[in-house]
Order: sequence, then structure tokens, then C-alpha cells
Amino acid sequence: MSIKVTVLGIAQDGGRPQLGCKKSCCHEVKHEAYPAGIGIIDNVGHRHLVDASRTMVNQMEIWNQDMLDSLFITHAHLGHVDGLGLLGKEVLATNEVPLYVSSTMADLIEKTPSWKFLVDEKNVVLNQFQEGDEIPIGGGCIVPFSAPHRSELSDMHGFIIRGENKSLLYLPDLDDWPSLLLGFELKEWLKSLRVDIALIDGTFWSGEELSHRNLEQIPHPFVEDTLQLLGDKQDGDPDIGFIHLNHTNPLYDKHGKEVKQVNDNGWFIAQQGMNFEL
Ligand SMILES: [Zn+2]
Ligand SMILES: [Zn+2]
Ligand SMILES: [Zn+2]
Repeated sequence: MSIKVTVLGIAQDGGRPQLGCKKSCCHEVKHEAYPAGIGIIDNVGHRHLVDASRTMVNQMEIWNQDMLDSLFITHAHLGHVDGLGLLGKEVLATNEVPLYVSSTMADLIEKTPSWKFLVDEKNVVLNQFQEGDEIPIGGGCIVPFSAPHRSELSDMHGFIIRGENKSLLYLPDLDDWPSLLLGFELKEWLKSLRVDIALIDGTFWSGEELSHRNLEQIPHPFVEDTLQLLGDKQDGDPDIGFIHLNHTNPLYDKHGKEVKQVNDNGWFIAQQGMNFEL
């Protein structure tokens, strides 16, 4: 049996439809998009969740699970942590579930009474990781790597999930590519990490989605620029998909020209329920 990764949410932190949005993007949305997250079932059947969204009940339904065996957190922004409280006795009442976080995220948990309570009540057991640690799971491991992303609450880590045959990289949030790649080309960087599948920041298609002021406050690489970095998929390139889409992102329109452009270049848009065998 291999490791199976399931996409449990594809939206930016606010989800889609998004609270307060009166534009057409959030009118009569037929299929709700949940904040980005993935579920990992290892080869002994243990269930590892990456990021804790308030929509965990819906995400568990996509995953076809009702409990988890460990939880990994990328960073402290809203949609990645606003479901942490669901592990407490009011809801899931987990018992000593390992919670894997960076040291700055662990500090924040210790300082946040409602999260510290989960630790005190033994719903979770804090496990601090360092970049590059190989955290073992059945049939493979999970490797955190640090990524530049506005760090007002905590730092940010993506994860590489390594199985016996393939590795998947998960990077929902990023400020910009140059600060991460440090001179590497994006595809070369992924190859240097021996990554076969990458789910990367697709928050905004372009700068047209937000006002200039807002774009400065919440920097992300635009998908149309990332496509320039990637060019066309060549033999031996990893499979690359976009995730963490803002509610305004035209990539939600399956029949739109933007989706066609991504697909024509050989890449894909992550979908809820999509599975990868590693
Ligand atoms: Zn986010
Ligand atoms: Zn909207
Ligand atoms: Zn963020």
C-alpha cells in the first residue's frame, strides 16, 4: 500500500463564497471551496492532516474520515488554524494527537489561551520541527521547508511528503518566488528536491483582482507570472498544480480562458477530492 494524499480545500483563507463579497464571484456559488488543506493516509492507515480549517467537518467528508492521527500546521494565518479549536472537547475531543509546528508557531500556541488549553487538556501534544527534519510516517516521511511569507504571527513552512515512489510538495502561501528560489529556476528547484508533484500558491491570477494598496499588503506571486517561470511542461518535469485560490480568481471558472492557458501549458488547478498516490 502506498501513501495517499487528498486535496481537502483549494481556497485562500477566506474560502469561496467569501464573507463580505458582493461581487459576482461569490453569488450563487454551487460548490463551496474550503480553505487549502491536504489529508495524508500513510501505508499503515494513519491519517495526517495538513492545516486546520474551520470547515474541517466538510473536509473530513471529502477525505472520508472522521478522526485524525496527527496534524501539521503551515503557519498562523486564519484559514490554516481557525479549526484548531475543533480538536477540543466541545467537538472532536482528540486524545494526544501529535501537533507538528515550527518553534514560532509553538510559541504562539503557548501564548494563545484557547490553543494552550488544547495542550493542557492533552487533546494535542506539541512537536516542534526544524526545516529539513524527516518526520516519519508509515511508508515515508514529511519534510518541512521554510518559505518567505508575511510573518506577522508566525513563520511559514511548506511540506514535502515523501512516499516510496513519489514525493509531493505543498506550498499554499508564498510572498514571491525569488526570495524562495535564491537564484534557482522554479522547475530546477523542484527537481533538486526530488519532487514529482507540486501544489503551489495560486492565490491571484493577476493584479487586476485587488487594489494596488491591498496587493502590497498581501503579496503573492501571480499565476500568470508563475506560468512565465514554468513555460511548457517538458518530459521529466514535475506535475504542478495551483491551490489556495482567492475568491476573485478566474481559475474557478473551469471553462475560462485562464484555466485553458494553465492546462495548455501542461499544468493543472487543484480540485477538492483530487488524490495522489506516492
Ligand atoms: Zn493562506
Ligand atoms: Zn467573491
Ligand atoms: Zn498566509
